Amino acid sequence: MVIGYPLSHSQSPILHQIIYKELGIDNVLLAQSHVSLASLVQAIKTLSIALTAVTMPYKEQIIHYLDVWSPEVTVLKAANTIIQRDGKLYGYNTDIAGIAFALSKINVRNKKVLVIGAGGAARAIGYFLKKNHAHIFWLNRTKEKVVKLANEFGTQVLDKNDCSKQSFDIVVNATSIGLHPDIHKSPLPHYAFHPGQIVFDMIYNPVKTTFLKQAEKNRAIIISGLDMFIGQGLKQVEFLTHKIYPPDQLAFLRQKLISNQ
Ligand code: NAP
Repeated sequence: MVIGYPLSHSQSPILHQIIYKELGIDNVLLAQSHVSLASLVQAIKTLSIALTAVTMPYKEQIIHYLDVWSPEVTVLKAANTIIQRDGKLYGYNTDIAGIAFALSKINVRNKKVLVIGAGGAARAIGYFLKKNHAHIFWLNRTKEKVVKLANEFGTQVLDKNDCSKQSFDIVVNATSIGLHPDIHKSPLPHYAFHPGQIVFDMIYNPVKTTFLKQAEKNRAIIISGLDMFIGQGLKQVEFLTHKIYPPDQLAFLRQKLISNQ
C-alpha cells in the first residue's frame, strides 16, 4: 500500500508494479489516501499489508505507530517504508538509499556542495553528504530552519546573494520549487552554473525541471530526482523480498516511468 494525502500524483504504484513484474513476484501496491493516519495504520494491520510506502504528509507522524525503526529513521525523524512482520510494524527510510543510487557515479568527498531547502529531503541529503565527508553550504527561504540543519550536518548557512560569489562543485535543489504544476519556477533563477558542475534536483515530476534545464544549458552534469525515486523504491522492494532488480533493466524501468508522467 502507498499512503499519503493527497496521493493523486504518486508514481509509487507504477514503480512497484514494474519492479515486481521483472522480479516475477505476484505483488501489487495500491494507493490509499485518508486524512486520518490512525485509520490508515489500522487498515495496514487489519489487512496484514506487508509493505507500505509512506509519503507526504505522514513521513514524520508515522514514527509514533512503529514498533521498531532503523537508525536512519532516528536521524531523519521520518520513515518512508513500513514492513509488517508477525504483526509488528518495522520502519525504514530508503530516501538515503535513493540519494546514494542517484549519486552513485559522483564522489562527494571534500566537495563543496550547495543544498537549497530545509525540509525532509534536505535533511536526507545533509545526512548523506556528512557521512560521505562533503562540505555543505545551506540556503533556505526560512533561515531558522536551515541553521538547525547546518548545526547538525555542518558547514555554513548562506544568503541568496552569497551563492553567486562562491563556486560549488555540486548544487542540490531539495525544495519543492519547480514541482508540477509550477514547472516554470526555479529555486535559483539567475544562478550562473558552470561546465562540469554537478546539479541534482530531488524533484522527479517533471523529470527535467527548469532548474536542471538551466544547468544543462550551461553544460553542467544534471541528475534528476527520478533516479532517487527509483533508488528508494528498489530499496523498499529489497527490504520486503530480499531480491535485487537486474541492473541491465534499469534503463527500461526509467523509460517506463518517464512515459507514465
Ligand atoms: P518539505 O519538508 O515540505 O520542505 C519543502 C522545502 O521547500 C522547504 O525548505 C521550503 O522552504 C521550500 N519551499 C517550498 N516552497 C517554497 C517557495 N515558494 N519559496 C522558497 N522555498 C520554498 O518537503 P520535502 O519532503 O523536503 O520535499 C522537497 C522536495 O523533494 C519535493 O519536491 C519532493 O517531491 C522532493 N522529494 C523527492 C524524493 C525522490 O524520491 N526523488 C523524495 C523526497 C522528496 P521553507 O523552509 O522556507 O518553508
